[in-house]
Amino acid sequence: MSRVARQVSVIAALAFTSLVHAEDVATPKPKKVLDTIMNPAYIPGEEKHASYWRTSVAATIQEKLNQKLNTNKAKNGIFFIGDGMSLATIMAARTFAGQLEREVGEDNTLSFEKFPVSGLARTYCLDAQVPDSACTATSYLTRVKTKYGTIGLDGNVTRGACSSQLHQGNLVSSIGQWALDAGLDAGLVTTTRVTHASPAGMYAHSSERNWEADSDVPQECLDLGCKDIAYQLVKEKPGNMYKVIMGGGRREFTPNITNAQFKSGGKRLDNLDLTEAWHADKMEKNATHQYVTDRNELMKVFNAEELPEYLLGLFNDDHMAYHLQARDQPTLEEMVEVAIKMLSRNPKGYFLFVEGGRIDHAHHDSLAHLALDETVEYAKAVEKAKSLTSREDTLIVVSSDHAHTMTVAGYPSRGNDILGTVDTALGSDDIPYTTISYANGKGQSVGADGKRIDVTKSQSFLTRSLDYEYPGMVPMDSETHGGGDVAVYALGPWQHLFTASYEQNVVPHLIAYAMCIGNEKDEHCKPKSGGFWSPNSSSNKASSFSFICVAVIVSYLRRLL
Ligand SMILES: [Zn+2]
Repeated sequence: MSRVARQVSVIAALAFTSLVHAEDVATPKPKKVLDTIMNPAYIPGEEKHASYWRTSVAATIQEKLNQKLNTNKAKNGIFFIGDGMSLATIMAARTFAGQLEREVGEDNTLSFEKFPVSGLARTYCLDAQVPDSACTATSYLTRVKTKYGTIGLDGNVTRGACSSQLHQGNLVSSIGQWALDAGLDAGLVTTTRVTHASPAGMYAHSSERNWEADSDVPQECLDLGCKDIAYQLVKEKPGNMYKVIMGGGRREFTPNITNAQFKSGGKRLDNLDLTEAWHADKMEKNATHQYVTDRNELMKVFNAEELPEYLLGLFNDDHMAYHLQARDQPTLEEMVEVAIKMLSRNPKGYFLFVEGGRIDHAHHDSLAHLALDETVEYAKAVEKAKSLTSREDTLIVVSSDHAHTMTVAGYPSRGNDILGTVDTALGSDDIPYTTISYANGKGQSVGADGKRIDVTKSQSFLTRSLDYEYPGMVPMDSETHGGGDVAVYALGPWQHLFTASYEQNVVPHLIAYAMCIGNEKDEHCKPKSGGFWSPNSSSNKASSFSFICVAVIVSYLRRLL
């Protein structure tokens, strides 16, 4: 059935159902939860026939059989992280996106879910069962697991202990650095502050993830010579070599003064304007460069005849706004398009890190509606990257740093509003409950009278308001991360390596292997032509065989003469 025809049927079915419901009895209350009787508004007609499912599985296996092993060297690598994008978030976001299109929802597929290979990564950190974004960033960008709250340092460092962060032996380098070392270009794009934990994993070494500006760093640490994260990005390697840096966090770079130039005031107390320092550094490198602060300026750069060599985009003082509440800021998809256009000029290739960082923030505030929309936006950015590159020479990996406590629970009918209440049953307290809820967080589940809150009496819930906080069981100021494994999806050269279940720090190692960066001296990284006596390439074997044949013939002729 075509999409239009399907939409018409959905609308017709919904209209029919509401007619029936007007005179229908209330949904029967199951005696036991497994006695639930489903009450879907609509089931696509073709799905009722077994042949539909048999045909679709046959197509799936054929697709798999048609896959050829891609062992090309990956010239480019693009690594997407959806911060806090748990498996439940992926399921809910695909359903949400499908329902926005007036589809039933559950069978919708996000862009990266179409990738041919997926695996699972374990996210615990050195000292934490459930990790934060700092130790995981270190894990998935440097291939070294480390301690909670620390970035770019190994487990010998204690959180907040400055002197150990100055000891070179404790520093671990990122895949961004490995790319630069191999002559590739590198860059990063995020929707959070560019100094936030995940992007900081690309360039910083900090025993405390919160040291984003100098005003965050204790005086005794500054005296010892510890540098804040923004400073490291602009003034030190590898950050000052990155061709593209885009996200939020302007306040971490600008001085704590208010005048015409710094209207909103920055956080820095050292009087440095690091955007100026970035400009001065590029002048010194004699490189064209551009600093932009809103979507218009970015689009001007993008549409100009020639792109600058370096681009810094800081689109908000704090994190970038949620997509649904944004004004005058580029989307993640737009930033990815600009970044790929910038980086693909290097004939040797590039490594790009992209973070959809605000899925996590929405979850922390129990704002499920925003978390799902941010996930959909993230999926659009992945689709854009896929459309701008070739799977023959570009490896795209999509994953998450850690899970969250959001669950999709109860037995709602197929097509039931993913942001609504379970349609088939009430709780044993005879009060409705939401399909989405959190194990903890700000959203209250129990009222002052000690009874569970009836969400259907909340206007904010009924209108699906963006600031409606989904209920959590344990009251907390901020909903926490979850400890579940995260999915890893891969497309491109060496995609088959990403299958199965492994530690999270394996991921950058696999990407580096495919790209031949990061000290990789593997066979597939050697130039294809090779020397005459090189033993392994098939063309060389053929040459050796010809050489032996000629030698035998010459010796035979000699004997004859
Ligand atoms: Zn978080």
